[in-house]
Amino acid sequence: MQLKDKVIIITGGCQGLGRAMGEYLAAKGAKLALVDLNQEKLDDAVAACKAAGGDARAYLCNVANEEQVTHMVAQVAADFGAINGLVNNAGILRDGLTIKVKDGELSKMSLAQWQSVIDVNLTGVFLCTREVAAKMIELKNDGAIINISSISRAGNMGQANYSAAKAGVAADTVVWAKELARYGIRVAGVAPGFIETDMVASMKPEALEKMTSGIPLKRLGKPLEIAHSVAYILENDYYTGRILELDGGLRL
Ligand code: NAD
Repeated sequence: MQLKDKVIIITGGCQGLGRAMGEYLAAKGAKLALVDLNQEKLDDAVAACKAAGGDARAYLCNVANEEQVTHMVAQVAADFGAINGLVNNAGILRDGLTIKVKDGELSKMSLAQWQSVIDVNLTGVFLCTREVAAKMIELKNDGAIINISSISRAGNMGQANYSAAKAGVAADTVVWAKELARYGIRVAGVAPGFIETDMVASMKPEALEKMTSGIPLKRLGKPLEIAHSVAYILENDYYTGRILELDGGLRL
């Protein structure tokens, strides 16, 4: 797919990886629909995409809310007249051990902690994929859907909720690649390791330092490196059903 004038939806598009993807794709002439929860940050990201050379619009939408997702996808199609790509990037962390005993006190991961991550990181991906794929078929648009999984899909301590969601996203990437190929829609994933964004900056400094020293390339990844991979998948018409791992060798 040539990205010039192609309409790409990026969820979680106002900061971190999503924002870097928007600017990178805008520089290639794409039209971006940035989806997120904060209007001010969205407006700022839209301005950055326009400055980079592409068109962009902001959409306030909680990806975990079925009604809002349905409305957002219909609005993007009405505004741009087509949908050629979706990057399911919105995500949250609510880390904690499932069971922890400290000083004789037992604590548990709450159901809210579990459910909020599943709702955004897994159900949100399902809803956006379902609605966008349906709209692509209706509009007879070939296209590509990219799911942002994580190295945590292999199972990280303190991330029972997040690992389950990211493994689920990886599994469903294969399901949807099989189901949607007949309609000319490719579905693939990117599984980043630890990348320099606010999400990683929220880790405890000692944990971050220990983790970085365990990366064979001895550094965190850069948002631009993830954006580059997303563009590669969008542009490569033979890439589907696979997860591209970008982790500096952490899982070797
Ligand atoms: P981030 O926290 O900087 O940005 C995430 C964005 O998603 C935010 O703008 C947030 O407002 C938005 N968002 C959250 N919940 C939403 C909802 N319900 N509806 C719409 N938008 C919502 O995170 P990031 O580091 O840029 O991560 C982006 C994606 O990459 C996430 O899916 C994350 O799990 C994944 N990831 C990140 C890393 C990393 O090292 N940063 C590693 C592996 C995977």
